[in-house]
Amino acid sequence: MKKKLLKFIYLLVVNLIISAIFGIGMSFNMQQWAFIVTLMLLVTLSGVYMAKFWETRQYKELQVMQERMLATVEGHEPRGVLTEPDSSYFKLIRQFNTLQNYIRQSQEKSQRDVTNYQSLLASLPVGVINVNRRHMIDVFNETAADLLGLQQPNTPILESLVIRQFTLSELITQTFNTRRNQQSILNLQINGEIKQYEVTTLFHQGDLTNSEVMIILYDLTSVLQVERMQSDFLANASHELKTPLTAITGFVETLQGSAGDDAATRKQFLQIVAEEAQRLSSLVVDILSLSRVQQKNDTMPTKLMIKNMIDEQWQHIQPAAAIKNVTFKNEVAEHISVQGTKNDVETILQNLLINAVKYNVNNGSINVTMYKDHQHWQINVKDSGIGIPKNQQSRIFERFYRGDESRQRQIASGTGLGLAIVNEIVSKHNGEVKVNSQVGVGTTISVTLPL
Ligand code: ADP
Repeated sequence: MKKKLLKFIYLLVVNLIISAIFGIGMSFNMQQWAFIVTLMLLVTLSGVYMAKFWETRQYKELQVMQERMLATVEGHEPRGVLTEPDSSYFKLIRQFNTLQNYIRQSQEKSQRDVTNYQSLLASLPVGVINVNRRHMIDVFNETAADLLGLQQPNTPILESLVIRQFTLSELITQTFNTRRNQQSILNLQINGEIKQYEVTTLFHQGDLTNSEVMIILYDLTSVLQVERMQSDFLANASHELKTPLTAITGFVETLQGSAGDDAATRKQFLQIVAEEAQRLSSLVVDILSLSRVQQKNDTMPTKLMIKNMIDEQWQHIQPAAAIKNVTFKNEVAEHISVQGTKNDVETILQNLLINAVKYNVNNGSINVTMYKDHQHWQINVKDSGIGIPKNQQSRIFERFYRGDESRQRQIASGTGLGLAIVNEIVSKHNGEVKVNSQVGVGTTISVTLPL
């Protein structure tokens, strides 16, 4: 303020001196003197006012620029400053605007990167967790939460508050200590269930003081289960195939010796060989049928007249039923049709009808009924046979499982694959198969399939 006043006085003095020199030179009278001094005074005042106006305007531009800069630093959206080409800060402000523009674009890009990174993490089928040296978790995706049976925690969070499985925390500590990536299959108890996870830990050294470990979890439970099932199936299938083969070779070798000379023995042994060969052939047919079901096929569904299909299947089975004098009633309405895969429905009907005859009693009966609503259709095969004990009912759909009665008393021959095949087909079509049975009364097997 003081500086401005001095400037003003200085200008005023200069003006007065100029007007004095001018007045003396022109030999002004008092009136002319007064006029010229007033004029000079006005000129000085307006000059000062103009300078002040100009300065204020430019000062304002700088002030706005400073405010915008501070706002950007505080995290607000970067904004430029309006300026005129005649401003003395025009170049500076233009560069400031370019800088603000650059900051905005960089912020937008990093925001996009963060969003992409987050949606990638969320959609990953593997669990991802990142832990730093101070054992704070800063990344924990949704899959990791699902796999560990937790609610997704808010990060950062202390590792020990989230990871409760000892073997997993051990692996993380080991990775920090050895500074090497690790890979292991861990059996983890998740909500009371044992799960198998492949765990990969990746060590990452940031700066000198900061290191991190990224943990990747992959659920192997069902893969290992399928592998186990396949190897069990192979072992069981080999065993089942070997049994009749051993019997056939054994009896053939015996027949090749002196035992073959006796006509009665020969007849008896050949009968056994024929039965075992038949069993072998049934096993091969059923194993092939099971593997056909497991393969994905794109057979288009067609219109199936169920009553006719049941009658057709019965034609093949009827001779066996006649031996036991089993009566058969197909109670399915003539006109009912469904859309379905012909081969699959035929295989289901065939297996259920064969069992209903095999495990029936002499003079027994078989009834087949069908229901249909807007979403499903259900077929029920009811027999008046020996029934299935309660403790076996949950096992009859397992591959190669044969009920105790069927094995011990040799009620009927079989491979133990019939209901496993039915179950496989039904699950392939997202259906359901149920058993309702009472020993000595009979069995009803119900298959429900979506329309
Ligand atoms: P298989 O008939 O070749 O033994 P399945 O898989 O068809 O094999 O059946 C498995 C077991 O379920 C049979 O061994 C039998 O003990 C029991 N089972 C199936 N159907 C019936 C039925 N209708 N009545 C009584 N038991 C049955």
